[in-house]
Amino acid sequence: MYTYDFILKNGFLVDYKNAFAKYSDIAIKAGKIVEIASNISLQNVRDVLDLEGQLVVPGIVDPHVHLSTWLGGRTGHRMLARAGVTTALDMSGPGEGVMDIAREYGVGLNVATIEFVRPGYTVESENPSATELTALIKKVLNHGSLGIKLLGGHYPLTPEATRLAIEIAAKEEAYVAFHAGTKATGSNLNGFLEAIELASNNPLHLAHINAYLRGTIKPCLEEVNIALQVLKEHPNITSEAYLSPLNGTSALCEAGLPASMVTRRCLVTGGYEATEAGMEQAILSGWAKVQVERAGEMILVCGEEGVRKWREEGDVGVSFAVNPAEPRYCLATAKDDKNNFVVGSISTDGGGIPRNVIIPMGLNLVEMQALTLQELVQKTSYNPARMLGLENKGVLEAGYDADITVINREQRQAVLTMVQGKLSMYKGYICGSGTNLITTAAGAEYVRSKGLNPVIINYTDTMVYKNAH
Ligand SMILES: [Zn+2]
Repeated sequence: MYTYDFILKNGFLVDYKNAFAKYSDIAIKAGKIVEIASNISLQNVRDVLDLEGQLVVPGIVDPHVHLSTWLGGRTGHRMLARAGVTTALDMSGPGEGVMDIAREYGVGLNVATIEFVRPGYTVESENPSATELTALIKKVLNHGSLGIKLLGGHYPLTPEATRLAIEIAAKEEAYVAFHAGTKATGSNLNGFLEAIELASNNPLHLAHINAYLRGTIKPCLEEVNIALQVLKEHPNITSEAYLSPLNGTSALCEAGLPASMVTRRCLVTGGYEATEAGMEQAILSGWAKVQVERAGEMILVCGEEGVRKWREEGDVGVSFAVNPAEPRYCLATAKDDKNNFVVGSISTDGGGIPRNVIIPMGLNLVEMQALTLQELVQKTSYNPARMLGLENKGVLEAGYDADITVINREQRQAVLTMVQGKLSMYKGYICGSGTNLITTAAGAEYVRSKGLNPVIINYTDTMVYKNAH
């Protein structure tokens, strides 16, 4: 028997909970951190890595990614591990596909999923009844999901059905996240305000706050100030915002027009016609960047190569740089009177969509002294771990899970991603396999039957629940 499985030597450790930033070693045994001290004895250790002063943080937890069949899922696991992410919440399902992909293409990460509520797919119409919503929620909990995702911005429900879904999720103790927008409003400031209204006092994870504040209703900084004020007044809303300028939507055109309303608006924003011809021009010029799989990851291409891919495949993902800088900056840094962050976590909306930029963009904020390193750890690990009820993650301390990210600050990238004491990625190479699927007691059996390792959480431990009670 080894005393320790692993020692990470000579790292520069930063922790939010214990408020330290110091050079130290970390000893790991059976998936847990067992000691943090300088010069831990190397006798009787299975593996040792000298980190030569590189930055060591609790494993990055990304509370908004996509790992489904239709959003780059099988590439997403690798992309997350290479971006230093140890735990992620898939924000749309379908759970079945997310779990199949997680088993086949997993690289050892912790993943949770929530099921989309989409007319024609998981519910019959845009106005599902309480009975139908209750049945759906019960079913998805038994199938390993943490709850539901309302895709308002893309596939809206009526306001009444949206309100009902949030209320029933609370009653059934299911996680509920919402991309704002209903049949009455869009994915903008008005949709955001409507979402707050519809949530009433119920728990709600309101997704990617920055995406509603692109300046389409009022100047974007005015929109940001309104949103921050409203969030401060509504503690039942748990939120995240991402830092990439890029969005992610579909390039599919039907009868000469982009099928997605989001895509049409993006073309107009860039000065292009909202037509198939406009799309071609936008790809050629680089305003529209087409998502293409290469060497196991999604990358963005434009110009003639982009047009060729789009013509070949039709329904390809596409990204536009439509997120202005000011809302991204303000939402990442804004605090309330008690010095708490108004938006608790930094996310990416990445995974299979190539914008997993927590490390480079987070370090930008640190370098301009907009966040301290400890605050970056709080917003990218401690808080999002608690969003998901993972009380034993997000902290560098003996007894906590050995989920660890090592960052090369000069290269601005992750060099090591470790999950429960096992390497998932080292120096760009993927070394992990399988997936730990975060689920509730109701879904554990199903998760096992899918060939995945269940990590069981309690809904009432999630920040989404706690913030509302
Ligand atoms: Zn998303």
